[in-house]
Amino acid sequence: MKLVIVANRLPIVVKTIEPFFALQSPGGLVSGILTFLKKANISNWLWMGWLGTNIKKNEFNKIKEFIHREYNYIPVYISDKLMDRFYNGFCNKTLWPLFHSMPAIANYERIDWESYVEVNRIFADTLLQSIDIDTKTYIWIHDYHLMLLPKIIRERVFNANIGFFLHIPFPPPEIFSLLPWKKELLHGLLGSDLIGFHIYEYTINFLRTLVRVLRIESNIRELFYQDRIIRVDTFPMGIDFKLFNSMTGIDDKIENIKKAVSNKKIIFSVDRLDYTKGIYNRLLAYEEFLKTNENFRGKVVLIMNVVPSRENVEHYARMKRQIEEKISQINGTFGNIEWVPVIYQYKSLDIQDLVAYYRASDVILITPFKDGMNLIAKEFVASRSDLKGVLILSEFAGSSKELGEAIIVNPNSIDELCEAIKVALTSSLEEQKSKLKVMQERLEKYDILKWGNDFMEAFNIILSKRNFFKTKEIDEIILQKIISNFKISKKKLFLLDYDGTLVAIKNSPELAILDQEVKEILFKLSNLKDSKVVIISGRRKDELEEYFKDLNVVVVAEHGCWVRDQYSGSWKATCTPNNEIKKKIKEIMEYYTYKLPFSFVEEKDFTVAFHYRLSEIELAGSRIAELLDELKFLVSNTEYGVLMGNKVLEVRPLAVNKGTISYSFTQQGYDFVLAIGDDTTDEDMFKALPSDSITIKVGLGPSYAKYYLPSQTEVIKLLKKFVEQN
Ligand code: UDP
Repeated sequence: MKLVIVANRLPIVVKTIEPFFALQSPGGLVSGILTFLKKANISNWLWMGWLGTNIKKNEFNKIKEFIHREYNYIPVYISDKLMDRFYNGFCNKTLWPLFHSMPAIANYERIDWESYVEVNRIFADTLLQSIDIDTKTYIWIHDYHLMLLPKIIRERVFNANIGFFLHIPFPPPEIFSLLPWKKELLHGLLGSDLIGFHIYEYTINFLRTLVRVLRIESNIRELFYQDRIIRVDTFPMGIDFKLFNSMTGIDDKIENIKKAVSNKKIIFSVDRLDYTKGIYNRLLAYEEFLKTNENFRGKVVLIMNVVPSRENVEHYARMKRQIEEKISQINGTFGNIEWVPVIYQYKSLDIQDLVAYYRASDVILITPFKDGMNLIAKEFVASRSDLKGVLILSEFAGSSKELGEAIIVNPNSIDELCEAIKVALTSSLEEQKSKLKVMQERLEKYDILKWGNDFMEAFNIILSKRNFFKTKEIDEIILQKIISNFKISKKKLFLLDYDGTLVAIKNSPELAILDQEVKEILFKLSNLKDSKVVIISGRRKDELEEYFKDLNVVVVAEHGCWVRDQYSGSWKATCTPNNEIKKKIKEIMEYYTYKLPFSFVEEKDFTVAFHYRLSEIELAGSRIAELLDELKFLVSNTEYGVLMGNKVLEVRPLAVNKGTISYSFTQQGYDFVLAIGDDTTDEDMFKALPSDSITIKVGLGPSYAKYYLPSQTEVIKLLKKFVEQN
């Protein structure tokens, strides 16, 4: 296996003046993935990304050589101007606020979007120029900067193995839908084989968005899209638990911190400068706490460490000013010569210092309005090998789903935050210990290695499923086998479904009409020596009569209730209708048409159908469940049963179905039986036919059929092949 990590940035920062040298770049993504690669003993990997520094094109090649030589990484060249529009523009002014559910501050600049498309294209170009992608190459793309990349790679290398992980939240569909380029982004992501999110909420948001925006449905965690199977799943990113839990050699640092604040109680706070982190609200809560809890004045300090980030985006610069003003106001109001209520640091801490702060603190206060995961919370818990300290954590941080024993707060409520600080500062050691213990056990179990392994395992599962479907696709070899069986056979039977098989599915059934070319093929097919063509449909007999009136084919209507003889053209009923029950069914269905816009009822001679192809999918999901319930109750102990088709629910006599009727035809001595269908009702047919029959499903999906064809047009091409054999 060769694993190619693709992320916006390389995991190193390079000093770009000769002699070059590089250091590991900071950030949770980089350290997380590097730790996973090391712990999982993956040796054959490389990393592709932007250098993270502005350099001229003519200097780039030299640095590229240095990086290749020393690290085997692939740097991507992007000009400063393009990078600015892409990174500061579309990534951080559009996607970042929108994906963090703050649409009011999202920008929608067309030129920024175009830069995003361009950078994703450059990543694809660089990737394809730099490596040979074979079946053993796994491409793992990271984060919101590269959401179009899966599709671009897929278009160029159809069989590439592509995984994608989003490190930030995926917003609910109503927020995502505000984006003018929503469809493009979704199609971009759907180029992947596996798409991963931190928590279930984001996975569900994504799946609901697919339904709303593209009308793509999924079953639990798999979906079929453009002739491929895709898996969507949840993988909460873990940390290197042992590293934090067993870190040694920092006792002096811890002592120094405690001494510096004269052993006062420490509330610690650390995050990147970002409006999603709720830093200002945290200060408001601390101010309120000092205002309302006089007894704590002089006995507690807030050490607030803000890590510089995205200072080129004006929103961030403004926020920094606001935070600093608030801190001086608090210190001015409450502080004195012996006590500074807020100790403020604007810098990045290295891991030793960070853990020293985690361990020196009594309370850590983490209050994002929205955060994909928040590793700080996990690191704090893991660091407290002494089982002391209290975690106050926002309910909107992804990690709150795994750290439920913390004091969980709503960062929008200053009162709640203020109360949480008080509870945390007065919590007993026993309570601290018991809570930290359970949280630590959980974090140790699902650490960074487990996270990465889990993702890779899901990746392998979906690739093997993809290959399984591949073996069922009718390729040239299978086609030749079918044709040669056809040629040597003495008596041939073709069982063909109508909608979705002979004609493409249309929004309204009356629009799905047989075209002249297909008619001619069917004409020739039915006139082949020793051949019988049976059209098996759920449609009404009058419609089918009209479409097939000139053709010498057997026609089965209403899923087997009516059969038209091939020669006489007369129709014969295979069962008797129950008009009384039909009337009741129709009444219930009519009622549901009011509850589900764009649905309608179709009454046939034996059956009643409820169609909802154009209805809102999510609403239909619940309405159909209700309707199904009522109908099942109504028909229990009758000769009728409920059948779910493709966007249609039908109540019909149980005695006949496509399976029983098609089986009856096979009893007439055929040695070549070929059945094609696309719908769930055709599964009865695939199941019932003798095992040596050739059964074909149109469109990818779970099926009893032996083979599949990607689309309805491929069916016509296949039928043409038989006709051409004469
Ligand atoms: N971090 C660090 N130095 C600092 C502050 C944070 O190295 O001064 C690291 C921290 O250990 C964590 C990451 O940066 O692994 C922050 O990840 P998190 O998910 O909490 O927030 P993000 O910055 O990714 O939004």
